[in-house]
Amino acid sequence: MARKFFVGGNFKMNGTIESVKSIVKNLNDAKLDSNVDVVIAPPALYLLLVREHLKPGLEVAAQNVFDKPNGAYTGEISVSQLKDSNINWTILGHSERRTILGESDEVVASKTKVATEGGIGVIWCCGESLEERESGKTISVIEKQLAAVSAKIGDWSKVVIAYEPIWAIGTGKVATVQQAQEVHASIRSWLKANVSEDVAKQTRILYGGSVNGKNCKELAKEEDIDGFLVGGASLKPEFVDIINAN
Ligand code: PGA
Repeated sequence: MARKFFVGGNFKMNGTIESVKSIVKNLNDAKLDSNVDVVIAPPALYLLLVREHLKPGLEVAAQNVFDKPNGAYTGEISVSQLKDSNINWTILGHSERRTILGESDEVVASKTKVATEGGIGVIWCCGESLEERESGKTISVIEKQLAAVSAKIGDWSKVVIAYEPIWAIGTGKVATVQQAQEVHASIRSWLKANVSEDVAKQTRILYGGSVNGKNCKELAKEEDIDGFLVGGASLKPEFVDIINAN
């Protein structure tokens, strides 16, 4: 079965009540390819507002979730609270959380386990820094990230992988189609060798890093690119072109 195209919008720490409402209205009014899963991730403060206004069929994601049940964890949000709010997805392991907030491969893996076991879909991010790419370590860095998550989870059906080279995020420097396809294909072979052939075939692998309305079509043609995780451009009207890129 063909993998359904998937486009995520990561608003990061951007937006106001007004601007978030206007992005939602733009999506609600747009003609979107019905054969695409669309999931937008506003800041936690606006999750309920977006869920309330966004039309059914389009999904909402948190940008992070904690790996403990409800309790004394100041500042955190649990999987059951997301489910209670009809938020069915979360991003995990974004490089900004790994590098700025210090989340290790193991922390990200543990959160992925708790989220998937709790019934939440996970957009699980991986990717290398510029230094790692230049020293030829791209694949080994990603395989280490994959191994950490694979050691913790049994069910991959709720996981969508986002390959986001750190040097391409928010920089305007998009990976070339060849660079992206090469890494996506290695992720898929890793899944085949270390998880199963079925998981390798069925798991969607998104590309993220300076995707925009202009470069999305070329990238979407590649065999192993099953969609995008979009930052900056998800705040703009061109997000609709990216959703319809396939
Ligand atoms: P960008 O961010 O599209 O602004 O490069 C992508 C991401 O961080 O998910």
